[in-house]
Amino acid sequence: MKLKKVVITGGAGFIGSHIVDSLMSRGVEVIVIDNFSSGSLENIKQHINKKSFKLIKADLKYWDQWVNAFKDVDAVFHYAANPEVRISSINPRVHFEENLITTFNVLEASRINDVKLHIFASTSTVYGDAERIPTPENYYPLEPISVYGSVKLGAEYLYITYSKLYGFRSLILRYANIIGPRSTHGVIIDFIKKLRRNPQELEILGDGTQRKSYLYIEDAIDATLHSLNYFISTNKEYEIFNIGNEDWVSVVEIANIIIEALGLRNVKYKYKLVTPDGRGWLGDVKLMLLDISKLKSIGWKPKLSSKEAVRKTVRELLDKKF
Ligand code: NAD
Repeated sequence: MKLKKVVITGGAGFIGSHIVDSLMSRGVEVIVIDNFSSGSLENIKQHINKKSFKLIKADLKYWDQWVNAFKDVDAVFHYAANPEVRISSINPRVHFEENLITTFNVLEASRINDVKLHIFASTSTVYGDAERIPTPENYYPLEPISVYGSVKLGAEYLYITYSKLYGFRSLILRYANIIGPRSTHGVIIDFIKKLRRNPQELEILGDGTQRKSYLYIEDAIDATLHSLNYFISTNKEYEIFNIGNEDWVSVVEIANIIIEALGLRNVKYKYKLVTPDGRGWLGDVKLMLLDISKLKSIGWKPKLSSKEAVRKTVRELLDKKF
């Protein structure tokens, strides 16, 4: 199946806008739906006047604003969400409304308009504190420790059920930490901001030993399209892939990389302990490394390691204003 026309929710955001670039360069007609809560026009301005591109500024919670855009599209890439895991512990309603109700609306709009092919941006946080590391897709039990993770898992199950009931074909992608240009949140940006304000001292959330896997955005987009091509070539109802790296990096290692890149010396680390076991915030998964054997078995592997991805992202973000 060759994609001719697709909807990308959250297409003005970090990952979504890179998918837009990639599909536009392949001649696909793209409709972006975004409310610009964290996305930006800057990310998609290169496409605004093109005939094959349409932008609908709308909120997925209110579907009469955009439901008709789903007519005659081949696939929906659902990437809109509030991705700030930390908000869960303070205001869980945000994630329920922005990440679960919106997904239900996207599925219903697809059912009504008979859109069958779906790509859903899920997350490594569905595994919670997994006892098996690296964690494979069939790890059980799935016990998310943040509301962000639990609503993403709920959304995954909605995709699975819609696939079984209504003939949807759903590709569920569980992303590790994706980093690179256009990202607006996460530990790298947090540290750069803090060190610009105070180059002598860096506040680290948690005990700094949190260790996670990072994937550069180009690798993430490549893995997304590679797994989609594979999925299209099968006749499976749904498929789940981990999208991540083979190694991981600790928070202190990230701090060291940024400090070196900024040319700073003798920076004092001040640890802010939120939980007795040294997490950065309530609901922070301390150790995350996805098993990507399944993705490798269909012929994909990352070009950059976690550490290389962090170094490259730091270089690219250093001259940006936040
Ligand atoms: P992002 O914040 O840059 O992009 C999300 C986009 O969705 C933004 O453009 C935002 O304006 C839009 N949006 C949010 N709520 C909306 C609503 N109600 N209606 C319409 N648009 C809305 O985030 P991202 O990092 O690009 O993440 C993209 C997707 O990937 C999200 O679903 C996120 O949960 C998932 N994900 C991201 C990562 C990561 O490391 N970046 C890791 C795992 C999963």
